[in-house]
Amino acid sequence: MKEKRITVALAGNPNSGKTTVFNALTGAHQHIGNYPGVTVEKKEGFRNHNGYEIKFVDLPGTYSLTAYSIEEVVARNFIIDEHPDVVVDIIDASNLERNLYLATQIIEMNMPLVLAFNMSDVAKQRGTTFDNGQLSKFFHAPIVPTIGNKGKGLDRLLDIIVETTKKPHHDTGHILNYGREVEQEIAKIEKLVDSEHSLVKKYGSRWLALKLLEQDKDILDKGHNEDVVGTVAQSVEHLTKIFGDEPEIIIADRRYGFISGACEESVKSSVESRHTRSDIVDKVILNRVLALPIFAGLMYLVFKLTFWVGDPIMGWIENFFEWLTGVITGFWPAGTESILQSLLVDGIIGGVGGVIVFLPNILLLFLAIAILEDSGYMARAAFIMDRIMHKIGLHGKSFIPMLIGFGCSIPAIMGTRVLENRRSRLTTIMVIPLMSCGARLPIYALIIPAFFAPQWHGLMLWLIYVIGIVLAIVCAKLLRHTLLKGETVPFVMELPPYRVPTLRGILIHMWERSGLYLKKAGTIILVISILLWAATSYPKPDESKLVGLDQQQIQEVELEHSIAGRIGKDLEPVIKPLGFDYRIGTALMGALAAKEVFVAQMGIVYSIGESDEESETLRTKLKDNYSPLQGFCIILFCLISAPCVATLAVCKRETGSWGWAFFQFFGLTALAYVITLIVYQVGSLFVG
Ligand code: GDP
Ligand code: MG
Repeated sequence: MKEKRITVALAGNPNSGKTTVFNALTGAHQHIGNYPGVTVEKKEGFRNHNGYEIKFVDLPGTYSLTAYSIEEVVARNFIIDEHPDVVVDIIDASNLERNLYLATQIIEMNMPLVLAFNMSDVAKQRGTTFDNGQLSKFFHAPIVPTIGNKGKGLDRLLDIIVETTKKPHHDTGHILNYGREVEQEIAKIEKLVDSEHSLVKKYGSRWLALKLLEQDKDILDKGHNEDVVGTVAQSVEHLTKIFGDEPEIIIADRRYGFISGACEESVKSSVESRHTRSDIVDKVILNRVLALPIFAGLMYLVFKLTFWVGDPIMGWIENFFEWLTGVITGFWPAGTESILQSLLVDGIIGGVGGVIVFLPNILLLFLAIAILEDSGYMARAAFIMDRIMHKIGLHGKSFIPMLIGFGCSIPAIMGTRVLENRRSRLTTIMVIPLMSCGARLPIYALIIPAFFAPQWHGLMLWLIYVIGIVLAIVCAKLLRHTLLKGETVPFVMELPPYRVPTLRGILIHMWERSGLYLKKAGTIILVISILLWAATSYPKPDESKLVGLDQQQIQEVELEHSIAGRIGKDLEPVIKPLGFDYRIGTALMGALAAKEVFVAQMGIVYSIGESDEESETLRTKLKDNYSPLQGFCIILFCLISAPCVATLAVCKRETGSWGWAFFQFFGLTALAYVITLIVYQVGSLFVG
């Protein structure tokens, strides 16, 4: 009875020991012929194992599965046409990274794969040790160490082959991720290619799309419809422009990046054997001792650059808006000020202008990040932080978005797109607002000097940021243990080779992100500014109530009478236990639009302009009206409470649900309330 038959294809690089293994497995039962139509030798052999008849086919030795040589096409076509039950990739374990390249391509073909780490004796001699468990998770394939010429490990290899055929096969076509740009193009082509039914049935749409992008001659010649041909040409051109190299090269780089990342985590060598230029750079950058200081230094440079270069430009923009305010005010002679003027000057320029002022900083920050990303450094930064991030149930890749969060939550939340795992991504998005963003800095800058002696300023600011980070860690851990429970799926941190970024690529990346910031200013912030302006200006009290009051008193009465003032008053009982009065309440509402509005709003509430000398007076007023404990509670609440509306909107867009957006919005506000309440109440016991 030979019912249970298994066909196994043996693939492997030349000199990996493939023929040796084949001979040892099949002994005398061999059959030598040619692949149809070509003069490439085809060897077949049989072996019985545990009641199975296993047919082995010794594929031609290849480094890759492109269409550049007959051997590669033969090997590839055999896998596609004959669809063996299992592909065994014979790997020369003493030359692992290079040999694994072929494995990545078999994975892409979505074949059940077994990795035989042959030459394991040589690898051992060289002092290399493998974490096979981990490697096998990365490659979604069991690993069996073998020594072909001694016949060692072959029984186990046979066991594993049989076992593999019994297990359901999970799609492995998506394990390798080619990065956002390439993946976007793959997705585009996949959609179009779906109409080519017979090809898709044979090759799978993702693999087809990938090969088309790689300009694989064999696949290109299959006669595609015009849409596909046109789109592929466009995609190739687009990617070539961004990366300065053809997609084929980029894709190959990514495969090596995947391998390099996997090996970096699972292979230890006591003897150095890798010597590419990237490896040499990595010796320094990923060095156990130097990695963190280099990383911290680079980040310091990025923030320094952002402010040094950005601040003067920021000054110009401020001057521009001042000039614009003057021009607009000039249209109305003194005494004839109108609603329209107030709307334009206080509402729109005050609100939108206040946000656009930060554009140079944002542009510079994104420029720096784009350079670090495109050069290959960001992947290393994620790698360096990986171990620390794992402790809070997140992946190293979560670190970069969190870092960007110190600038602004919006690009940070968009930056989480690099996270493939949805739960990790949601967790990261949820805690990002706890990374104190740039817009909160003006609040600290107002409050801290008002209540604390100069020698404490630096420490206070440091404390605020640390509180945010600690809370983020606690919340992330909590989420990962409750709502977003799940294993941290091990996936490879890709370490693509370093490359000199192209100017075009950097500009595109920088613009993609900054454009969104501008859009936020032009849409959401514009609307909110107008609403806030209206809420603090209307309804107006009766003229009769204002008789005999000075300018300051008039503003006070007007504010109390306005919607914002009234809501503030209504809110007072709720926020009183936190040490806040109705004035702070209205300012906190303003902070919902954009955190920096808090400062402007406090200024309005205390009817004091925003010019520099006068903000001293605002500080004095604050000092007269509140205690340092109240001051600290304001900062604390602003740090933790609901992110601004723009963040809410982006959170909705990126999570795809209002549920998560509101959960973040109200969850953080509730957290802020509880913490501030405790701090104020307990604090009051001590300082009164
Ligand atoms: P192929 O090109 O992949 O078919 O490689 P071969 O099977 O011809 O083997 C190349 C050489 O490697 C031969 O001299 C084998 O004896 C040797 N070889 C094969 N497997 C092993 C192994 O596991 N350890 C060692 N040390 N040598 C091996
Ligand atoms: Mg051979």
